[in-house]
Amino acid sequence: MINVTKTFLPDRQKYMDYVDEIFVNGWITNDGPLLKKLEKRLATYLGVKHVVLVANGTAALEIAYRTLDLTGEVITTPFSFVATTSSLVTNGLQPVFADIDTQTFNIDAKKIESLITPYTSAIVPVHVFGNACDVEQIKNIAEHYDLKVVYDAAHAFDVKFKGESILKQGDISTLSFHATKLFHTIEGGALIINDDALVEKARYLINFGIEDEESIPELGTNAKMNEFEAAMGLCLLDDIEMLIQKRAYIYDRYRSALKDLVVFQELNEDSTRNYSYFPIVLKDEKALLDLMKVFGDNEIFPRRYFYPSLDTLSYIEPKQVCEGSREVSKKIICLPIYPTLSSEDQSRIIDILRENI
Ligand SMILES: *Cc1c(COP(=O)(O)O)cnc(C)c1O
Repeated sequence: MINVTKTFLPDRQKYMDYVDEIFVNGWITNDGPLLKKLEKRLATYLGVKHVVLVANGTAALEIAYRTLDLTGEVITTPFSFVATTSSLVTNGLQPVFADIDTQTFNIDAKKIESLITPYTSAIVPVHVFGNACDVEQIKNIAEHYDLKVVYDAAHAFDVKFKGESILKQGDISTLSFHATKLFHTIEGGALIINDDALVEKARYLINFGIEDEESIPELGTNAKMNEFEAAMGLCLLDDIEMLIQKRAYIYDRYRSALKDLVVFQELNEDSTRNYSYFPIVLKDEKALLDLMKVFGDNEIFPRRYFYPSLDTLSYIEPKQVCEGSREVSKKIICLPIYPTLSSEDQSRIIDILRENI
């Protein structure tokens, strides 16, 4: 069976050595030594100032909204994983969808301005499949209307824009380190915070709002990462360059094999790739369903991602319609891509595509 992705597990003995360390010092969660080490190493690796590790990528988004005191309406994209929108709703914020650019799959910066009202507090774009958003245009709009920007950068680990980490864009960028992501800590996530003054607040928020034994300055929650998860991250970080390289090889092979068959995502030319996803756009939904059937019969499971478009979520009121996002979400699948995908398996996938499109 071939799934859309396969979790990479590091050298077992290396992980067990960290576990031994945890058992010796008895510190298993709450700002432990391995978590601190991972925060430092990630900041250096990513080229950012502050990394605040949290329990998962959804918590990272929620903590970001609370750190920036967002209120009222937030302009976001309907073409993302559901957590981008649901995290707004659970924090009492109203998602207002700006439709996507149907070539890049990212929020269309030209559609943001007309949606701004006196209640708008922020923009929450997503670097979809690691493809950098139109960050300069979004920055201009945010500055002009005094809005905060939180980038859901769950797909954008390691991506650079004009030579610098894409995570430096916006007020806060959030990452997911779920087992299915390029870099993982089993479950986990991070906030990349660009303003020094906000780092401490975010740290209180993930620990019940507690500053110290005598002071609870913020309304917080529990969103801590534990030491076993941090240990996984430390192991994966040793391998990350090799992992990206292997993905790049698979990515390039798909690209040259399929270039005349399907439509690819239009990529931001000022940014680098991390090869974490390989999305293709088919002619229509019927073509997609027929293809999925053939793949399924061959025990190969690409994923409809993202589907459905988030402007169709039942719990979002008032109803909004984003035609571009709905159209793309009906025709797009992500092909299997992971470092241990064998060359033979990739050949089978390519052959099935050649014979069935
Ligand atoms: C994975 C993902 C999330 C959620 O991260 P979790 O760690 O699973 O909570 C949020 N947004 C996007 C775009 C994602 O892909």
